[in-house]
Amino acid sequence: MVFRQAKWDEKLLFELGRTGRIGYVPPDPIDGDVELKIPNYLERKEIDLPSLTEMQVVRHFVRLSQMNFSVDTGMYPLGSCTMKYNPKLNDRVASFEKVEFAHPLQHHSTVQGLLSILYDLSMFLAEITGMDEVSLQPAAGAQGEFTGTLIIKKYHEIRGEGDKRKEIIIPDSAHGTNPASAAMADFDVVTVPSDDRGIVDFEKLKTIVGKSTAGMMMTVPNTLGLFERDVLKITELIHQNGALMYYDGANMNAILGRVKPGKLGFDIVHMNLHKTFSTPHGGGGPGAGPVAVKSYLSDFLPVPVLKKTDKGYEWVHSLPHSVGSVKGGYGNVGVLIRAYSYILSLGPEGLKDVSEQAVAASNYLLRRLDAKFFKTDFAEGVPRKHEFVVSARPLAKTGSSALQVAKAILDTGFHAPTVYFPLIVDEALMVEPTESEPVEVIDEFSEILNKIGKDAMENPAIYASAPYNASVGPLDEVKASHPLTLMLNWRKLRGVDRELEGGKADTAKSGRV
Ligand SMILES: *Cc1c(COP(=O)(O)O)cnc(C)c1O
Repeated sequence: MVFRQAKWDEKLLFELGRTGRIGYVPPDPIDGDVELKIPNYLERKEIDLPSLTEMQVVRHFVRLSQMNFSVDTGMYPLGSCTMKYNPKLNDRVASFEKVEFAHPLQHHSTVQGLLSILYDLSMFLAEITGMDEVSLQPAAGAQGEFTGTLIIKKYHEIRGEGDKRKEIIIPDSAHGTNPASAAMADFDVVTVPSDDRGIVDFEKLKTIVGKSTAGMMMTVPNTLGLFERDVLKITELIHQNGALMYYDGANMNAILGRVKPGKLGFDIVHMNLHKTFSTPHGGGGPGAGPVAVKSYLSDFLPVPVLKKTDKGYEWVHSLPHSVGSVKGGYGNVGVLIRAYSYILSLGPEGLKDVSEQAVAASNYLLRRLDAKFFKTDFAEGVPRKHEFVVSARPLAKTGSSALQVAKAILDTGFHAPTVYFPLIVDEALMVEPTESEPVEVIDEFSEILNKIGKDAMENPAIYASAPYNASVGPLDEVKASHPLTLMLNWRKLRGVDRELEGGKADTAKSGRV
């Protein structure tokens, strides 16, 4: 397939603007109908925004979108991130007026319909995870983890063991947010290694767990796409030692409708609605990472909690051991509504189909990859769940790398898989096709990967400067993420890079965004 991404030399809106240009003008409010008096002290005389016509704005954003890649453009097999197709129906439901224009500070009596949806969503999530109570507040998986680790902390404090229980055990295959969340909640992170089955080394775990253990965080199936066969033994061991089990359910695509973390012995669970339950995500948001707990931890949830009473739905603002609020408002309502719509439109059987097809797609794709280029490190021959990890180590021997394979893929109309994660596999490519892709697309992707593998092995230089046909060429990975070189301010960017029309940009003012 010949693929070429658009390359517009698109100016910033600030550079496109000309004094006096206007777009849509809202009609004056009818006298007496709407009171539009902005108090003097809030009124700004100069707001320094660009003046543009509607067409300029439309072209600007359409051009930018053409230089982007999304799951609406092509397959996005970014392992662990679950970039499945997001049905447009969910967007439509989330854009209903009564949802879109509700304000978080409105009196609860005026938003009973919306609250009933949020309440029902909590019930669905409790049912899916096998837990008792749910908080929809956290705005991301990482924030759900942070909330969960705060609950673990408070639980031990209430029992008078806060000083002793300082450690959280985390497998070496875990997502990086797990140790980060535990550290933010002021725990010491103890890593438990994986064995040659690619799952938690149970014998090692037995030597690690003890009186200083506060809890353990686990992802099942883990990031290698392998089901943790010893999970029941593990939750029992941790509980025997007085600690709590945390389930990282960021990605539930393999277990949806089949396995309930609550039944596996987990005390706290978070889910990423933006992954499994289908909301467009990436680039920093938006997300929703609800936390579910067993009944004995329900008093620890963030406040406010939504309750159903005889008089309707209302917020309860105090709980005996609440860890406090982690986000304002009701959480990310737009994401919550999409998840609700997704769950209702699929129904219980549909959700079961999701996990079946996600797992079938991942195993089918893995089987089609040529092991001469892409090797499975752990548990050779054992079926994977919703995702798998292969190592491009055979290519590294000839001077190529997983990074080059990923860059080469960008020239083919597909997105690259996750690379160099999990850390226990070198030259890792972590692939998650999801349930959305038809078989012919997965066939095509596997052919592309095998071809790139073959080319890279024969001639390692061939992809050295890839991508060639994407909107931007290879990026300097360090520069692109370093706080000193990142430019989030257009004046700073232009002041350094290029002269603005009408004089050099005023870099002295570059503190303004
Ligand atoms: C994505 C992911 C997270 C973090 O979720 P965010 O919403 O990005 O904060 C945590 N754990 C696993 C396994 C994940 O895949």
